[in-house]
Amino acid sequence: MAYASALTEIQQRELVQIVGEDGVIFDPAAMRVYASDASNIKGKIFAVARPTSTAQVQEFMRWADAERVAVHPRGRGTSLSGGCVPTVPGIVLSMLGMDKILEISPTDFVAEVEPGVNTAAFQAAVEKMGLMFPPDPASGKATSLGGNVCTCAGGMRAVKYGVTRDYVLGCEVVLPGGKLMKFGGRTQKDVIGLDLTRFIVGSEGTLGIVTKLILKLIPKPESSASVLVGYASLDDALRSMAKVFAAGILPAAVEFMNETVLEILVKTGACPWPDAVKSLLLFQIDGSLETIGLENARLARQLDDALWKLEGVGKTEEDKLWAYRRRVTSSSYVLGPDRIGGDMAVPRGKLLAAVRRFEEIAANNGKRLIGFGHAGDGNIHANLHYDASDPDDAKRTVKAHHELDDAVIAFGGSLSGEHGAGCLKDPGLQLGRDEHELMRRIRKLFDPGAILNPQKGY
Ligand SMILES: Cc1cc2nc3c(=O)[nH]c(=O)nc-3n(C[C@H](O)[C@H](O)[C@H](O)COP(=O)(O)OP(=O)(O)OC[C@H]3O[C@@H](n4cnc5c(N)ncnc54)[C@H](O)[C@@H]3O)c2cc1C
Repeated sequence: MAYASALTEIQQRELVQIVGEDGVIFDPAAMRVYASDASNIKGKIFAVARPTSTAQVQEFMRWADAERVAVHPRGRGTSLSGGCVPTVPGIVLSMLGMDKILEISPTDFVAEVEPGVNTAAFQAAVEKMGLMFPPDPASGKATSLGGNVCTCAGGMRAVKYGVTRDYVLGCEVVLPGGKLMKFGGRTQKDVIGLDLTRFIVGSEGTLGIVTKLILKLIPKPESSASVLVGYASLDDALRSMAKVFAAGILPAAVEFMNETVLEILVKTGACPWPDAVKSLLLFQIDGSLETIGLENARLARQLDDALWKLEGVGKTEEDKLWAYRRRVTSSSYVLGPDRIGGDMAVPRGKLLAAVRRFEEIAANNGKRLIGFGHAGDGNIHANLHYDASDPDDAKRTVKAHHELDDAVIAFGGSLSGEHGAGCLKDPGLQLGRDEHELMRRIRKLFDPGAILNPQKGY
């Protein structure tokens, strides 16, 4: 059945009744930012609704389902896969009006939050109480916890601590039609019934609207240390990383940067490593105040084949090292004003072969591959920069991008390790036909009228 193609005056008044005057935007200029996300793809919307309570979300979802209005749930819009883009004209449901930390319990090691809470603010709040919420997407200063959960965000510390999915104990979700569902709870263990909480994690806004989250916390490690390590090539760097794991060391984070990344970093700012260094690893370890020095020394012993290294102990010193990693995305624009990004994951043992294959594909299309990311869990950020005003460059870049996706599948990998399919990835490349069909049938059970985030996900 077709979707509403505009809102009538009556429907506009009904929307105002549901979320209040302050909870609606109809002004085209103010709506512009909501018609896109960090992917920069644009869509068309009739309105933005910003509920402030679960009751309002329920009423809104009852109304939208009955009126056949497409709904595009949105946190802070940092999706790089077009997860929030209104691919079908409709209403953006901004969840930023529900941004309260409801409780942090140091005895249950649990927090209850609304979905619009900012990730970094939440982490700071739990850390003040000696606790830790490990998922740490690089975009955490800008993201919402609801967005993190609906994309199953990963981050630097995934190698040791896992991803967002490992920290969601339960959630409340409003389905199309307005019914409120409560999945999971406050216990660390629960094996009664199907784990529907896990269905919601990574569901990209396709099953329901998350209105509350119950998150797992762990004790915060007392101390940490980082080391930036330089090698003559990515091959040397990844051989060295393998030695670290073989020695029984589990770092909190291990990032890699390929030769092209070092070139652009050197081009765009001061860098402390010598010219012979062509590839970098960045390790972080954490632990108690008593053991961190010992762990650091253990790690250093395994890095004896490095050309160069720089250590930092404690947040201020570590931040200086991590600043080089954080600079990669902004520095990449020296290779072109436009970007097609990838965040593929491959089995860990295939990381080097995959990056080298990606570089070859890029070179065959006259491009350079900006390859970096989470080496410890085989998650590669494979970015291609180009100039959209040059049709030949754009064509070669898109072709290379498709070839990268094919190569990931050939490596037994995943098209996306953390950003999701959104409206950019073709999950049919990766999923078996029967499995894909089963997912679509589950989606239909949650959302029979298909009003939620149409044309996104799977
Ligand atoms: C510079 C940069 C760096 C990044 N680094 C990382 C990284 O290291 N790791 C990583 O995993 N990602 C990263 N990302 C991608 C992005 O930040 C994550 O996907 C993040 O989890 C999105 O959070 P958000 O609040 O912006 O969600 P949004 O982008 O607003 O939404 C994401 C998805 O969740 C759905 N959604 C949001 N809230 C709800 C809700 N309450 N109920 C139902 N559905 C909802 C939306 O429909 C959409 O499909 C990065 C992005 C940028 C721009």
